[in-house]
Amino acid sequence: MNETKLSKRLKTVADFVKPGSSIADIGSDHAYLPSYLCVNGQIHYAVAGEVNEGPYQSALTQVKKLGISNQVHVRKGNGLEVISPQEVEHIIIAGMGGALITEILEAGSDKLEGVNRLILQPNVMADRIRVWLKQNGWELKYEVILEEDEKIYEILVAERGNVDKPYSNNIDLELLLGPFLMREKNAAFIRKWTSELYSWKRILNQFEQAKETGGVQRKKEELTRLISKVEEVIST
Ligand code: SAM
Repeated sequence: MNETKLSKRLKTVADFVKPGSSIADIGSDHAYLPSYLCVNGQIHYAVAGEVNEGPYQSALTQVKKLGISNQVHVRKGNGLEVISPQEVEHIIIAGMGGALITEILEAGSDKLEGVNRLILQPNVMADRIRVWLKQNGWELKYEVILEEDEKIYEILVAERGNVDKPYSNNIDLELLLGPFLMREKNAAFIRKWTSELYSWKRILNQFEQAKETGGVQRKKEELTRLISKVEEVIST
């Protein structure tokens, strides 16, 4: 990858950055995202945070090569500890699991003051993020699901606001599937949940062969209910 071209996944993340905003890209790896945004004049101030030495060095090399070290500040540290309160307007965390992303947000909650937008791209467990956002005053504003190189990615964008607004009376399912995504039902969404259904049915099959205990029975019933709800969404 070079600095002027991003993957479809990161380009979609970049498109959610409001022009002129200051950003922190946490877990920036090569700092491709903030570099792209700066080189293209979309932003003028970024913090690229990295906890690991290798990616931290790659980020430093990248911004030095591009001559943008005065705009993209590469810092080594865990999660949001690399930024100060009020330093940035957007926080971007991409390419990690939903559990790690929520842990980073939770641990750094004192750094969210002054932040007006979260742009989060979990590779898995997006539902954990939806729950966290809802519990912490962040309204889910946009969701994208896309496929690239046979992998499916979700992007969640949140701003402070009415946490209940995106949800209806089917909240458990909406938290799992994504309230906007389940209404849009694009090809990537159908593909993702068709594949999940396939895995769940295999698990159900294993339960059916397992010795009957109260626990197994309960799990079987829960999974059967979930399968039929998700099937209903993707088939209508
Ligand atoms: N954000 C880039 C992207 O989406 O292409 C890189 C994703 S890469 C898979 C995840 C990066 O997050 C790694 O470079 C890793 O070192 C970094 N990382 C993991 N946990 C972190 C944490 N707690 N704080 C900062 N960086 C972290």
